[in-house]
Parts: sequence; structure tokens; C-alpha cells
Amino acid sequence: MFRLVLMVAVLMGSLWATAVEKKVPVLCYHRFGPEVADSMMIKTSAFAEQMEWLKTHGYTVIPLDTATKYLRGEVKSIPAKSVVITVDDGHKSVYSDMAPLVKKYKVPVTLFVYPSAISNAAYAMNWEQLRELETTKLFRVESHTYWHPNFKKEKKKLSPEEYSKFVDKQLGGAKKKLEERMGHEIKYLAWVFGIYDDGLLVDAKKSGYAAAFTIDRQHASSCDNAMALGRYMVVSKHDIKAFEGMVNGREDRLPPSKKEVVKY
Ligand SMILES: [Zn+2]
Repeated sequence: MFRLVLMVAVLMGSLWATAVEKKVPVLCYHRFGPEVADSMMIKTSAFAEQMEWLKTHGYTVIPLDTATKYLRGEVKSIPAKSVVITVDDGHKSVYSDMAPLVKKYKVPVTLFVYPSAISNAAYAMNWEQLRELETTKLFRVESHTYWHPNFKKEKKKLSPEEYSKFVDKQLGGAKKKLEERMGHEIKYLAWVFGIYDDGLLVDAKKSGYAAAFTIDRQHASSCDNAMALGRYMVVSKHDIKAFEGMVNGREDRLPPSKKEVVKY
């Protein structure tokens, strides 16, 4: 009898878990341009095609903040076909090539940037451009660490004390710097090169981030660690059929043998 009760409880527990799981596809872009110059880039015309496809197929692009609050239970519901757009690295082509389309389609976009590059690296936007994009109310700046390091390599190179300080600078330091520059709270983080481990997930939470995003090709889910939510990197090799597979859930949680590898 006890066993039967236990089995029923386990079964109901798993049904409950399935019933309450909430998921949202989060896309991750990098660079845009008239021609494809490298693997991290997509043609601006391909991005326009994707925005048009979302529109004609009844999708709603929602802000990352809304999606994350929905996963946490702070926002009750979102449109059935919701999708989130994010862009990593703060490349100039976001300002020159992507922004006109973002304004045309009125889609919210989160920019994960690292402050060491802004107003500094030749390929990056400057602080004025980021602030200008935010005045449209469509763009929102969030954190992509301080200077885009490879945490795996740094962990090998540095002593535990040095590494701890280093992580603090990259996570907490970036948050503080971006808050000073942008004049608003920085709540979200995107892992650099998609690299993270258990220790870093704890550190990100301690640094005050509400959620952090990987490039693990799966929907962001309420059942996942909030510091390791999945995203689909979109690059030039993805045709509209592949794009459809990302947003409609076809690609979500594929077994490793079937998983696509997108080189960073
Ligand atoms: Zn990056």
C-alpha cells in the first residue's frame, strides 16, 4: 500500500513538473552586414527575412526581462509564440545595420556588452551609441563580463586567490561599470564563449545577476538553473527552416548525437 501511494505521488510529481515547466526560445546574434565576412556574422537581409517570418507566423518578440520574469513566475503569462532576441559583444554593425530593422519591426533587443571594448575597440560601439539605442526603448544593455575572457584558461593560469579576484572583476566589476555608464540596473549576464561551470554559476548569483545565459542550444526553461539558461546562436549557415526549428521548439533538447555544433 505504501509503495502504491509512493508511486502515485512520484507520478503526480512528475506530471506536475511537466505541467508547470515554462519555456522561451532566446536567440543570440553577433554581427550583421551586407555580405558574410566570418562565421559569427549574418547577412542583414537574412535578419530582415527572419523578422518578417516571425511577424507573418504570429510570433511576438518579447523583452528578455519579461521572459525571465515569466520563467521565475513573476509575470503570469506571455504570448503563446514568444521569442527573445539578444546580441553579444556590442559590434558596430548593431548600430549601423541591425538597428534600422529593429526600429522597423519594433522588436525589443538585449545587448550583452563588455565595457572594456566600448568606446575603445575599433569594432565596438561607443557609449553614446548605446545610450542612443536605449532611448528608442527597444534596446537594453546588459553584461557580457568586463573584457570577454576565457574563464577556463584563466582558471588554469591563476592561483585560486587571483582567480577569485579575477572572477569578481569580470562579473561584479562589469555589472558596476555598466550601471555607472548606462544609468540603470544591470540584471543579466551572457557567458563568454558559452563557458561556465558550477563555481561560476554560484559566483554570478552572488554578484547580483538575476539570470545568466549560455549558448547551449535549448529553450530557456523554468526547470533550468537561472544562471545557465539556453540560447540559440544564429549565424549565416542557418536558413529560414533552421531558424524555424529554433523558435518552434524542434531543436530544443535534442540528444547530443543530433545536436548541431555552432563554432564560436
Ligand atoms: Zn561574446
